[in-house]
Amino acid sequence: MTRLRTAVIGVGHLGQHHARILAHLPDVELVGVVDSNPEQARLIAERFHTRAYTHYAALLRQVDAVHVVTPTIYHHEVAAAFLEAGVPVLVEKPMCRTVAEADHLIALAERAGVPLQVGHIERFNPAFEELLRRPIRPKFIEAERHGPFTGRSTDIGAVLDLMIHDLDLLLTLVGGPVARVAAVGASVFGGHEDMVNARLEFANGCIAHVTASRITRHPKRRLRVWAPEGYAGIDFVTRKLLLVQPSEEVRRWGIPLDRLDGSARARLREELFGRYLQVLHLDGDRKGDMLTAEIVHFLECVRTGRRPRVSGYDGRQALALAERVLESLRTHAWEGRADGPVGPHQLPPPAGYLFTPAQLACPQADAA
Ligand code: NAD
Repeated sequence: MTRLRTAVIGVGHLGQHHARILAHLPDVELVGVVDSNPEQARLIAERFHTRAYTHYAALLRQVDAVHVVTPTIYHHEVAAAFLEAGVPVLVEKPMCRTVAEADHLIALAERAGVPLQVGHIERFNPAFEELLRRPIRPKFIEAERHGPFTGRSTDIGAVLDLMIHDLDLLLTLVGGPVARVAAVGASVFGGHEDMVNARLEFANGCIAHVTASRITRHPKRRLRVWAPEGYAGIDFVTRKLLLVQPSEEVRRWGIPLDRLDGSARARLREELFGRYLQVLHLDGDRKGDMLTAEIVHFLECVRTGRRPRVSGYDGRQALALAERVLESLRTHAWEGRADGPVGPHQLPPPAGYLFTPAQLACPQADAA
């Protein structure tokens, strides 16, 4: 097999892992890494025995595929330059800042006839892959994505940084269109929103509650699905999937509560999970690294011309839904009146303090 010549543009926190994986894959040559910070470019190039550049223009005609891992504000410019040169692109999520930019990238990829993939990595989470294999028609979904403030991705807010993962997963699981969006969110440190909750009503009747926060102390990334077929719970961090379904007995007759005698009722609690509700735990944690799976898939699409699992169109649809969430939270009236505080930057004035400095000094204060 001929070696694919690749490069990574933006080798910060995440881009350096793209470079590491490419440097170790067979049949791939990491031609170079690009970072506008020369010191960072040099450090990563040395580590993976390749050349360092401070501008992508030098590589436009030297590669067969490229990974764009710069901050989001540069995704469109960099990806467009490579697509115009006929080079397949894997662009990190969120695909761009606006739907108009995303549409432009899709048009360029179509014109060049090359794959455009978006880095919605949770689609490669073994727990989510396993769920998609099951015949589930979600009717209510809760998605939570919480993490501590990292100081990165401050060019965007929690919707484009975090919630976009779940918006893409919801569109994949439920399908569109989304009839109504109601969101609320707040900027805690200034700049963009740091926490947000959205209620989505899909045209097919499914309701989803989605929460994202980048100021939560302990990371949590999970999805819970209720459907006529049963319940599914995913922990994206541990990559575990829990499935619960009614037993054949319950599907046919329900639980005959009126015919249960005293002792049968007493046993109900112990027998609920097992006899009446069957439970399956699936552990996807030993199924390999997700970023490697995403990259290998992209390179396979480059070689075969196949449409990527997360196409430019998918990235665009997630972005379009994210724009609706942002629009809704911008117009949320905290006190129910448009002439009062509105949106993520104008919160109602605090009514007081939740605790005093003296309480803070008490040892239990750190427990949560
Ligand atoms: P980062 O700030 O750590 O790294 C970005 C790097 O790009 C920096 O080294 C910076 O110097 C460089 N850079 C900036 N402008 C550039 C330009 N015009 N050309 C070349 N290099 C440039 O950010 P990060 O956390 O690595 O995030 C990068 C991208 O990856 C963002 O779009 C982010 O949303 C995405 N991301 C995705 C996931 C995921 O789960 N898929 C996780 C983290 C980050």
